[in-house]
Parts: sequence; structure tokens; C-alpha cells
Amino acid sequence: MFNIDNNDTITAIATPPGIGAIAIIRISGKLSFKIIDLIFQPIDKTLKTLKSRRIYLGYIYYQNTLIDKVLINIFKSPNSYTGEDIIEISCHGSIFIQNKILELIINNGARLATRGEFTFRAFKNGKLDLYQVESLLDLFNSENELDHNLALNNLRGEVSRIIKNLRKKILNLNTILEFGIDFEDEYLNKKNLRVFNKLLGNIINHIKYLINSFQLGLLFKEGIAIAIIGKPNVGKSTLFNFLLKYDRSIVSNQSGTTINYIEENLYLDGIKYRLIDNAGLKKKTRNKLELKGIKKTIENIKKAEIIMYLTDKINTKYLQIQRYYKYFFKKEIIFIINKCDLLKNKIKRQSSPILISAKYGIGINYLLDQIKSLSERFITNNKKTIITKVRHYEELKKALFQLNKMKENIQIGIEPDILSLLLKEANYSLDKIIGTITNEEILFNIFDSFCVGK
Ligand code: GDP
Repeated sequence: MFNIDNNDTITAIATPPGIGAIAIIRISGKLSFKIIDLIFQPIDKTLKTLKSRRIYLGYIYYQNTLIDKVLINIFKSPNSYTGEDIIEISCHGSIFIQNKILELIINNGARLATRGEFTFRAFKNGKLDLYQVESLLDLFNSENELDHNLALNNLRGEVSRIIKNLRKKILNLNTILEFGIDFEDEYLNKKNLRVFNKLLGNIINHIKYLINSFQLGLLFKEGIAIAIIGKPNVGKSTLFNFLLKYDRSIVSNQSGTTINYIEENLYLDGIKYRLIDNAGLKKKTRNKLELKGIKKTIENIKKAEIIMYLTDKINTKYLQIQRYYKYFFKKEIIFIINKCDLLKNKIKRQSSPILISAKYGIGINYLLDQIKSLSERFITNNKKTIITKVRHYEELKKALFQLNKMKENIQIGIEPDILSLLLKEANYSLDKIIGTITNEEILFNIFDSFCVGK
């Protein structure tokens, strides 16, 4: 880990290691311009000074030997990613060129940056708060559209703004209390108390909303779980494979082939789902393996957001089954009749149950539409603020605890200076989320997850 007080000039290759069409090398710090003056010769020989936010074409020389024709990008402090003077060199992506330019920059006074050091400087110089830094990591790691939208929203400072606003509101409450400490007679008379409680209630509700959003955030990250269930041999594994577009699960006309469950990710319109193929449900069995499989299926039903109940019998009492799952498991259920290709009399397709043939891909688009429409209720919240990190969730819970304690203590007339301490504790937790207050261990954990060059 870098020393957090370092102010020296750093450099690194910002593009992925290896050969590429081009590579980008970054320099950040006080020596950036001095170094580029020493190693770069602009094509335009009349050029006197390099201006910020401009791109220049020129040559990089190493001891009078030409290394490459490059473009350099200039960002003058404070208008740069790190807040320091930054120069980005876009060179041709051979490993030799990349390493030679890097060596040249280091020989002229820069140091090789450690993981996340550029971003750390952005944090240190107030360009990003800690919440935004963590969102940046989420953005790099986002696997689907929803993850990406969420990370981008947070990077733009949505949650940070809300946290800062809550901090301000708590500080205002504290001012009222401190006023009470100085003028004890005036302290929270009936009218003040009403206003005070209203403000406090408002803050508590907002924090509760953020805490609850964490579950939704987890759902987006991990994927909406869909459990495929039904009796043995109805075509669960065939449907599972068809949806995944490859043979992941064993299909056989022998009952009990899927004893353990199989889980795979499925992406529909940029949303992540976890598709789970389960062991067949049986009313009676003494086979220990089958019993274990059924127990696992029930666990998966409980954990899933959506159930796809499959049968291959047209006369299944689907309304009863649907009611059963809704009532006992409180789950959204899609009832499906499979093997419609075998039906002698063609039945007009109904919306429920859905008729499909997993083997021949009949009715699958309609089924996918049903999945998407059931997911709507989870997804409509995606534009709103969502907490995705355990660290933030824990700190919000701590803040809520202090504020609830405060609410109780006000009712029993506890002294304002003690109440004020509770407010300070709550703010302390919020400060830790955005990084106004932090410790080296937290910083190390966060910045160490970045790559060198970011
Ligand atoms: P599971 O035990 O519910 O997972 O069922 P499988 O997916 O292993 O399928 C059992 C048998 O039904 C296999 O022989 C499949 O080929 C067959 N099957 C599955 N879906 C269809 C379908 O849509 N039409 C027909 N005709 N056969 C199917």
C-alpha cells in the first residue's frame, strides 16, 4: 500500500497488460510537465507551451533514439482526474514501446504507482468521495446493464448527495440541541419538540429507506433467482438447457436424473437471473438421495424470487398449485404445461397456464415475456437510490440505531448534551460511508482492489 502522505509524481500503464493496438501511460504529479518536456518533441516545432485539455502529436525519444510517434493528452491541476497535473501518453501497443516509455518517465523523476494510487489521489484531493470510489470499482466489475446503471448513478454522486444531505440535517438538529444546552430554560418546549421530532422522524425514514434498498441491491448483483420445479420427467432440465442455449443439465427419460440442483446465470434484456434446475418433486419416496434432492428443492423454492412450475399433464389442477405456492411460500409463480407438441387436440394458447414445448422451443418467447413482466416489480426501483455494499449497509444500521435511541431518550427527557452525543455518533457513521472520516485499513482494502494505473 502507498503512503497516504506521498506527493511525488507517479506513473503507470493504464491499459491492460500485453500487446494492443494502442496503450495509455499516465503521469500524475508536480513533475508531469517537466518530464514530458524532457522526453516529448511535438510535431509542431513552433509550439511553446502545452495547454490543458488539448491533444498533441509528437515523438518520444530515448537517448536520441526514436521510440514512438504518440499523442499526449494534457490535464492541468486542478482540472484532472487526480486533481494534479496529469499527462496521458497514447502510444502504439507493443510491450517494448510501453516499457521503454515507462522506463524513460521513471528515469526522469516519476515513481511507478501502486494499485489504485491515481484514484486515491482523486479521493485525497476531493475529486471523489469514498462512496464514489467504491462505485467506480462496481462500474469496472459490472456484468450487466442493471449493475452498470446502478454503479454509474452512484459514481455520479447520487447516494453521496443524499448522505451529505442527511449529515447536514443531523447537524441542524445538533445546533438546536446545543442551543438548548446554552439556554436550559428554553430547551425543547412543546412546540420545539414537535418540530424536532418531525425532523428526526424524517431523517430516520430516509435512512430506513436506504437500509431497505440494500436487499434490492443484492438482488441486482446476485441475480433474480428462478427455480424450475415440478414432478420428475416433465422436462425441467430440457427447459433449463433450452433457456441457457446449451446442454448444461442431463436430460433423460429416466426419473430422478437431477438429484442435486444446478444453477446458471441467464441474462435477459441486461438483467441477471439465476436459473436453478431442481430435483423432481415426489409425494412418496424412500430413496435417501431423492429425499435429499427434494429437501434442496424446497430450500431453493424458499430462496427464489420466481417459481416456474412445470407439468406435462393438461389436466393438472393448476389453480390449486398456484394458490399453494403463493400462500405458503409467498412467491410469484409461472405455471407451465410442457410437451405441447404431444397434444392430440390443439388447444388455443392461454395466458395461464403457459403451453410450451421445451424440446422444440414452442412458446418460449411468451414464457420469457412472462419472466420479464414478473421481474418488473423488482426492477422499477432501479432508477432510485440503491445501497450495494455491506460496509455502507452496516454504517447506516449503526446510524439508525443511534437515532432511534435518541428518539426514545427525548421522550423521557434526557439531557441535551447526551442527546447531542448520539447525533454525533450517527453522523460519524455517515462520515465513514463517504470517507470524511476513515482509517488506513478501510482505505487499504478499498484501493487495493483497483489495478495499477487506475
Ligand atoms: P426432468 O426430469 O423434469 O428434468 O425432465 P427432462 O428434461 O430430463 O426430460 C424428460 C424427458 O422428456 C426426456 O426424454 C425429454 O426429451 C422429454 N421432453 C422434455 N421436453 C419435451 C417436450 O417439449 N416435448 C417432448 N415430446 N418431449 C420432451
